Amino acid sequence: MSGHIVILSEDIANKIAAGEVVERPASIVKELVENSIDAGADDIRVELEKGGYQSILVMDNGSGIEREDVALVFERHATSKIHDFADIYNISSFGFRGEAMPSIASVAHVELLTRRKDDPAGTKASVTAGIIKEIVPIGCPAGTQIFVTKIFENVPARRKFLKTEATEQSLCIDAITRLALAHPEIRFKVMVNGREFFAAPAAKDTNERISMVMGADFSAHSISVNAQKNNAVLAGFISRPEFTRSNSKNIFLFVNKRFVRDNSVTHAVMSAYRQIIEARRYPAAVLFLDLPPADVDVNVHPAKMEVRFKDSRSIHDLVSQTIAQSLATAPTDKGNFAYRLTMREKMPAPALRHPQEKFLSDSSGLFSRQNMQQAISADLLSRSVAGKEKQLNIAESAGSKDVSFANARYLGQFADTYLVFAGPDGLLVIDQHAAHERIILERLKKSSAQRIISQPLLLPEVVSLNPGQINLFAGSIDLLQELGLEVEIFGRDAVVVKALPAILPNIQPREVIADIADQLSEQNQMPDLLERKEKILAALACRAAIKANTVLSAAEVAALCRDLEETPYNLTCPHGRPVSVNFSLSEIERIFKRK
Ligand code: ADP
Ligand code: MG
Repeated sequence: MSGHIVILSEDIANKIAAGEVVERPASIVKELVENSIDAGADDIRVELEKGGYQSILVMDNGSGIEREDVALVFERHATSKIHDFADIYNISSFGFRGEAMPSIASVAHVELLTRRKDDPAGTKASVTAGIIKEIVPIGCPAGTQIFVTKIFENVPARRKFLKTEATEQSLCIDAITRLALAHPEIRFKVMVNGREFFAAPAAKDTNERISMVMGADFSAHSISVNAQKNNAVLAGFISRPEFTRSNSKNIFLFVNKRFVRDNSVTHAVMSAYRQIIEARRYPAAVLFLDLPPADVDVNVHPAKMEVRFKDSRSIHDLVSQTIAQSLATAPTDKGNFAYRLTMREKMPAPALRHPQEKFLSDSSGLFSRQNMQQAISADLLSRSVAGKEKQLNIAESAGSKDVSFANARYLGQFADTYLVFAGPDGLLVIDQHAAHERIILERLKKSSAQRIISQPLLLPEVVSLNPGQINLFAGSIDLLQELGLEVEIFGRDAVVVKALPAILPNIQPREVIADIADQLSEQNQMPDLLERKEKILAALACRAAIKANTVLSAAEVAALCRDLEETPYNLTCPHGRPVSVNFSLSEIERIFKRK
């Protein structure tokens, strides 16, 4: 059985390597622009014809290459960026594998013009299908220009896999966009089929570049994030909850300035938004993670689009906690449909009638209808007696841009579900269930930092479930207990509920257990602890919140609004649906054709 193994010729080896590095025109664009950045350029110009598969030109004003080295550029494993293997664990350049140029040259025709600033003459090289045709002196500007044509002409199989011109073009643009985001100091100009497509002058900082690249809309709806944990520094911008996209393409992650895809980090971003934006919608984010080079392995993917973190759990937590915190504390934007509601007057706590009501009133207000009634201030009631029932005290809170509730007039309830206000910026409509659901969820989350106090049921209630659901419950008994739900497995197809969270006296055990079972069994696998906790709290909040089709008094509405004002994430309900919608005067005037 000997004589079957042969060493592949260099040409074939290069073509195989090219399969990994050079998948399509966009990969060529990425490799060339990265080389320009590595060469210290601060001005890069890219020209694409026919989505890049007709030709790609990348011009830079970087270091240039000396004539003696030009032939080496096209040799496999020839690089000026590392000398030892250990160097790749302490690397600041994009390249180090010395693979891109020979790979590109093996599947296309490459013409290279280059001159170092102090050299009197430049060098021109042309290479076709991996073979150097000529290397000659030539006059040219300082820097390097690489012109790639006949892409995949000698590998028709690969050409067949290319998509339409428009798709390939947008992939090329994506590649440039990512590099431009991470390098604000570099001027970029992109020409497509002879026309200027994109020009980004050198920006003074990342923020400026981000708004240039991501668009004004993102900038207007973004919040900055900044955090540090051990040696990891996280900075960047994330979208507000009202700015969502239909896919995760707008979540950009840069690790030490290198754009990478990382499922764990994407998951961390999504988990911070989980109960704030609708299912199947995605936020946008530009995140820069800086780590000591030794804490991240960049040599795990041929195009270096993936990295391996030494401590990926800690990175995940840094990202999700930072984003969750930034979202919770970000000032709300007035320019949007949803208002932040502020009552100018704080209402005094209700008088305690029974000592056991103490913690109910301490946790304030709206957890039960009964409580809600209590939460109403004498002040408000007296006003309503005085015939100004619906006048919720009008005045813009001084110095604050928030629309205060004090500023809006309550007009009434519509369809026993929506609360309607005349606000200074239009007609404001609040979904009472969505609003209350968010209030309760945030309170539960806060209380669950410690153990939630439970209150035994007078009569334990048996709730039947299917065997799969029993399994999920069996694994979550401790967690449920922490959240104030005392549940025991009862035979093979039921659980018995013995206590519920004391702050939610009015929920029905049967309903809430069924909801939790549905939530937990939604995915094929057991959700992780944090996700399970969120799901259980969301089910509790949903069941405890005022339902639609419930008549509320003006005073109850006042209490609801006051609580909403103090609640983080008050723009959306836990399922991501809006809590409030504003119809501006001009919108209404348009409907009535007054404008
Ligand atoms: P790598 O970037 O991994 O080193 P490449 O195959 O991409 O490998 O490039 C090989 C070498 O060619 C680089 O190490 C660099 O010395 C040189 N080179 C390529 N492009 C440029 C450029 N635009 N300016 C200066 N030098 C370049
Ligand atoms: Mg390179």
